[in-house]
Amino acid sequence: MKRIIIAIDGFSSCGKSTMAKALARNIGYLYFDSGAMYRATALYCMQNGLIAEGAIDTESLRTRIKEINITFGVDPDTKNSITFLNGRNVEHEIRSLEVSRLVSQVAALDFVREEMVNRQREMGKAKGIVMDGRDIGTTVFPNAEMKIFVTASAEVRALRRYDELTARGDKADYNEILENVLQRDHLDQTREVSPLKRADDALLLDNSNLTREEQMEWLIEQFKKLTGQC
Ligand code: C5P
Repeated sequence: MKRIIIAIDGFSSCGKSTMAKALARNIGYLYFDSGAMYRATALYCMQNGLIAEGAIDTESLRTRIKEINITFGVDPDTKNSITFLNGRNVEHEIRSLEVSRLVSQVAALDFVREEMVNRQREMGKAKGIVMDGRDIGTTVFPNAEMKIFVTASAEVRALRRYDELTARGDKADYNEILENVLQRDHLDQTREVSPLKRADDALLLDNSNLTREEQMEWLIEQFKKLTGQC
């Protein structure tokens, strides 16, 4: 059967990762979370003294970028994907609000993007992958056979993130999260390098009012059409 690349892009907290993971599981593809790579890079900066008064020490990060080893694994109990930063499981830490506040600044740096995009392209060499992010269909894999651009209202997205954080026992403030969602939208859409935008050939999916099941049904239908299975 034809194996393809599936690129899922869209705004922060619109359920891209959950959707991409479930889709990969359903069709037997590998899942890669490109946002986790930018988050792990931001965490590296925080833990290695590369932040001073909220600003990134760009030159130090540039010289150390190759030392930032990011790999993925699978949690044997939950079967969820986990992110390792230089061999350490950082899956929980990279989802904190502190990392969320810093990540878009890190992701806007041209040399960080260049490095991560190269690594992401390596991951897609054998095809049969689902990757989610902001620039997967536009920059990383412009020839991806299936491209989805996901969106939902900022309020719905902030509420989902709030539920996710509280469900795992973290303290969360809805207004603070909404502010972060809006700020990341702005930074992601206005940055110079690879701004978040829908690829011309991406299918639009507004999931504000869709259940996960409805969404999966729609995705599988698109996948089958594109791989000639129906
Ligand atoms: O997807 P997630 O919200 O975890 O991504 C965190 C941040 O990483 C985004 O807000 C965005 O700034 C950045 N990002 C990016 N390009 C990607 C994936 C994520 O710039 N392909």
